[in-house]
Amino acid sequence: MADTEDVCAPASLAEPLRVPHKSLMGAGPSNAPPRVMHAGSLPLLGHMYPETFQVMDDIKDGLRYVFQTKNPVTLCLSCAGHGGMEAALANILEPGDTAVICKNSFWFDRASYMAERQGARVVAAEAPLGQPLSLEAAEEAVAKHRPRLLFLVHGDTSAGVQQPLEGFGAMCHKYGTLLVVDTVASLGGAPLYTDRWELDVVYSGSQKVFNAPPGLSPITFSPRAMKRVLSRKQPCSVYFYDILKVGEYWGCFDKPRSYHHTCPVTLFYALREALALVAEEGLTASWRRHQLAAQRLHDGLERLGLRLLVEKPEHRLATVTAVLVPDNVDWTAVTRTAMARHGTEISGGLGPTLGKVVRVGLMGVNATPRFVDRVLGVLEDAIRNPMPKSSL
Ligand code: PMP
Repeated sequence: MADTEDVCAPASLAEPLRVPHKSLMGAGPSNAPPRVMHAGSLPLLGHMYPETFQVMDDIKDGLRYVFQTKNPVTLCLSCAGHGGMEAALANILEPGDTAVICKNSFWFDRASYMAERQGARVVAAEAPLGQPLSLEAAEEAVAKHRPRLLFLVHGDTSAGVQQPLEGFGAMCHKYGTLLVVDTVASLGGAPLYTDRWELDVVYSGSQKVFNAPPGLSPITFSPRAMKRVLSRKQPCSVYFYDILKVGEYWGCFDKPRSYHHTCPVTLFYALREALALVAEEGLTASWRRHQLAAQRLHDGLERLGLRLLVEKPEHRLATVTAVLVPDNVDWTAVTRTAMARHGTEISGGLGPTLGKVVRVGLMGVNATPRFVDRVLGVLEDAIRNPMPKSSL
């Protein structure tokens, strides 16, 4: 019997696991409430057990509610938001297709890389930093390029912009184009109507407004999007993201469920409870609470003499606010002071906003007057009394 080890047990693992409490008030993830964390600690079940399927069915119901859709193909992918983005693009695009992608933020680059990996040609529909894409500019690009899809980010976390979506679906459909929408940071925290606004593929993330652990990406496909999936020349290039395969596991088609992968069942419990919390509060109440919290934050920032990147109030995303860093202030000292002195995360900029802004997130349970006032105090202190670099 082999009784020697070539690699020893690491001493680090003999130490107890220590995880501090932090206030997650950056661009995400957000804090999870006890009910959600408790659900995630319930006993493991097998991935093909009827009890697991019941949890999955509850999640499907909850997701149809938060997406405001009747789409039968509504489920949750076992991956982060990036996986939702990749799945949305990989299921719709084939080599030679054109994808028009809104270019006003960090997310253009990500979505473009992914679309190009599917063999698609990417065309940018540009809007200035801090502004959404107008319906007119979108229509100009769609009419000219007749793309397979238009990609928009509803809640742009890099600049704090909320992209209006009303009218975009109907416009796309005039040209035979599908509308793909990223709602990773906005779903549950800003009005969104998948069916009413004719959105075709919409995906999100578990860790932002829903206050669940990261690692799940809710996604929904309209009947129009499914028609496209079924008419592909080749199957989806990534087995794991193939909506026809994963949808079968989730019981979305008139077929018995079949094994696709071993699902992260404890994450499902947590998301199920997170969705139950939204259902208890009511979706419109949640949208309103996020809007009121954001308004309180914006008013408070103004009182502190700080300016927002997004000038027009109607274009501001409620869940993530990009605050312009004053000229004489070192943004790294602000975010590090907030963390070191107050145990509070405030994010720096991302992509085109790096060095220009700090980002404050108000998501789910953190979107309350108490947390707004707290984060305003943290920001004021971090700007007025930044800790010297040596002590950070
Ligand atoms: N889209 C947007 C708008 C996001 O804010 C994020 C996360 N910051 C993502 C996609 C990617 O999500 P994840 O980090 O869970 O992969």
